Amino acid sequence: MPSGPWGGLRTEEDSRAQGGLRVSTPGLHQFTCEQCGAILSYAPGTTELVCSYCGHRNQIAESPTEIVEQALDPALRLAGGEAPPTAEITAKCASCGADFAFKPPAFAGPCQFCGQPVVADPGPWRKIPPAGVLPFLIGAQEARRLVGDWLKGLWFAPSGIAEQARGPGRLHGVYLPYWTFDARTRTRYLGQRGDVYYETQYVDAVVDGRRVRQAVQVPKVRWRPASGQVARDFDDVLVLAGETLPPHLVEALEPWDLEGMRPYTPDYLGGFGAELYQIPVDRGFERGQAVMRETIAVDVRADIGGDQQIIQRMEVDHDRPTYKHVLLPVWVAAFTFIGRQYRFVVNGRTGEVHGERPWSFWKIAGAVTLTIVLLLLLAFLFSQADSLQGSLRAIQ
Ligand SMILES: [Zn+2]
Ligand SMILES: [Zn+2]
Repeated sequence: MPSGPWGGLRTEEDSRAQGGLRVSTPGLHQFTCEQCGAILSYAPGTTELVCSYCGHRNQIAESPTEIVEQALDPALRLAGGEAPPTAEITAKCASCGADFAFKPPAFAGPCQFCGQPVVADPGPWRKIPPAGVLPFLIGAQEARRLVGDWLKGLWFAPSGIAEQARGPGRLHGVYLPYWTFDARTRTRYLGQRGDVYYETQYVDAVVDGRRVRQAVQVPKVRWRPASGQVARDFDDVLVLAGETLPPHLVEALEPWDLEGMRPYTPDYLGGFGAELYQIPVDRGFERGQAVMRETIAVDVRADIGGDQQIIQRMEVDHDRPTYKHVLLPVWVAAFTFIGRQYRFVVNGRTGEVHGERPWSFWKIAGAVTLTIVLLLLLAFLFSQADSLQGSLRAIQ
């Protein structure tokens, strides 16, 4: 007999599995309230799953294992060149009994029929399972307010857009896949060091109507070969492992407070979307190495010294690199404004907002018109002043 908003199907397995335990088909997680049996969602900023029906809060049982960095080399052998996920993950909702499927790369989200949260096991679909998850701190309401405030603070944004963004819907929380890499690096480099010196040159000039020779100091650069070695340890170099959002949009949400990372448990995903990684670990490491190289190049320039530097070659040696696969929380808002779609992302931990901003044609046109009018006015005033001076001189 159904006794909650979930209605319908209740199997024997369900009643056995109450109190935050796994229900539904193998490989799927739905979390039931220990008080009323309804399905739970993770409450951002807590370590609890909250029941939307009776309001009861259920403590998340965390795994006591620590998140450890894994050696990269075995992972490259195991999962290098792994193709992006293409299979749909089929699910049977324990709440309404409906069958549905997650479109790749999604592995968590609402049941498409009753909206109750379902989390699939990422394990069977990817060779490297998530080791850690950074749980949402910021809830939907606050994220919506932050996006609204951000839009309001934009110059030349169309009026009314902030209200539109604050409206219901259009915002969803998703855990995005990332790689993080650690490495101790040693780099041998070859380059050139440039020191600026001044040479005195003589030029002809006219001073008070007379031709004179003047001495001027001209800067020149003396180049000398430079070589040496620098060392740097990298900790948690982040690389986005998903492709559903453009990297420039998501990378702007850095830095992340990775200290808040919890060992992976599906509980934190309840009520949110989550994505399997699409970029395999080897491509991720290539990107991570490029990020490290940028920092190393700064070190090399400092090591070369002088006023200017040229780096001709850098041989970077990564000593025993390690990695982790983690999930980071992002609110994504999208809405269409005058036929174009705009996306905003909010860091689910810090509240930092970043987005593709809309521009108001009329506000910009108004500002441009005003500027032109002011410039014309100034030009007119100057010409008036000039002609006034001209007539004064004529009088004299
Ligand atoms: Zn309940
Ligand atoms: Zn359902």
